[in-house]
Amino acid sequence: MIPNIRMLKEMLEKFVDLKIPFETNIVLKTVKKAEYTPRLSLKLKCDYCGKEITDEPYTYTLYNRRFYFCCPICLREFKERIRTLDRRKKQS
Ligand SMILES: [Zn+2]
Repeated sequence: MIPNIRMLKEMLEKFVDLKIPFETNIVLKTVKKAEYTPRLSLKLKCDYCGKEITDEPYTYTLYNRRFYFCCPICLREFKERIRTLDRRKKQS
């Protein structure tokens, strides 16, 4: 689970920065964890472009939350966006 309050705060700030609706995502995470099977009936949406994922999702874990992507491009763009945010935070 979430290690501490400071990390949680950072995580939520990041979600706000990325305009990710975090309340929805926290709920979804619980559902996904419980129902994650190789043949998953639950429809996943790409965390970058919002498209429905029909094939095996590309995943990326950040602050204990798993993000799902429809293609390697979305995954790469998402990581790039996080890197940009981190850089901006360090500079300010
Ligand atoms: Zn996508």
